[in-house]
Amino acid sequence: MRVSYGSALELGLSKGRTDTRTTTLYLFVSRTGCRGSCAFCPQPYGGSGRISRIEWPRFSLEEVARAATGASKLKRICIQCSDEPGIASLAKGIVNRLAPAGLPFSVSAPPMAVEEMEMLKDAGVEILTIPVDCADKKRYRSVKGRSLEDIMDSLRGAVRVFGRGKVGTHIIVGLGESEREAVEMIDTVTKMGVTPSLFAFTPIKGTRMENAASPPIGAYRRVQIARHLIVEAGMEASELKFGPDGRIAGFGCSAEELERIFNLGHPFMVCGCPGCNRPYFNEKASGPFYNYPSRPDPKIVSEETWSD
Ligand code: SF4
Repeated sequence: MRVSYGSALELGLSKGRTDTRTTTLYLFVSRTGCRGSCAFCPQPYGGSGRISRIEWPRFSLEEVARAATGASKLKRICIQCSDEPGIASLAKGIVNRLAPAGLPFSVSAPPMAVEEMEMLKDAGVEILTIPVDCADKKRYRSVKGRSLEDIMDSLRGAVRVFGRGKVGTHIIVGLGESEREAVEMIDTVTKMGVTPSLFAFTPIKGTRMENAASPPIGAYRRVQIARHLIVEAGMEASELKFGPDGRIAGFGCSAEELERIFNLGHPFMVCGCPGCNRPYFNEKASGPFYNYPSRPDPKIVSEETWSD
């Protein structure tokens, strides 16, 4: 299996330095290779050792199991699955082997049968994440290589099996969607009982989107604020105001409330399963920090929000 570079450091399986320690053990599992065709991901184009912008060195399950048992700083194990037949059974075997570490499990996987979801839940998986990734409905099939309805059906099935609040999804900002489309997707999945987690598109060499640009930091901040308002403050997408190009033009809350959000800080950090901090998944150490690794300066995030 592959282990994210930060996780391998945390387990003592790799040597190196980092200024932000991971709080989740991130694993990527694949047996036969990914059959997906996401335009932004290097996996279908030769099984690269990269996912998003970080390296994922290989280790055996036994090496990971031995090291994970003593890793006291970890709060969660996240098993990210390739799109291939039998992947849910593979994930179940990993959950069984790593259970002695005593940590909650998240599994992030493409759509699967309800029986497979039930098998994962029975094995002890706490949260099942099925990534929507793309919020642009018109270009969905060309970006993801499958239909959005498949994903939505699977998310609905997952909520029936795992319950509201125990199903997640990933939304990648910068895949061609407008801010309005990103906000509407956040609204749709939240109403379904699914927790959305935001990522910033990162161009990776060798993919169909290698020459596309990462999103402007201002657009990302605005979508982060909208996510906070919808997921944590119970607002709806229809309460926000949008310009003719879909850009967020108003948040539907007072200036004081917006100030409070800047001061909170956590809306601009990694969001998703409890304990997930994904250090440097989308960021170079030099920035820009789409998801800050720690509470950011309110003045800086306020300036970034209106920067472009
Ligand atoms: S939010 Fe984090 S822990 Fe949860 S599935 Fe996504 S990457 Fe894994």
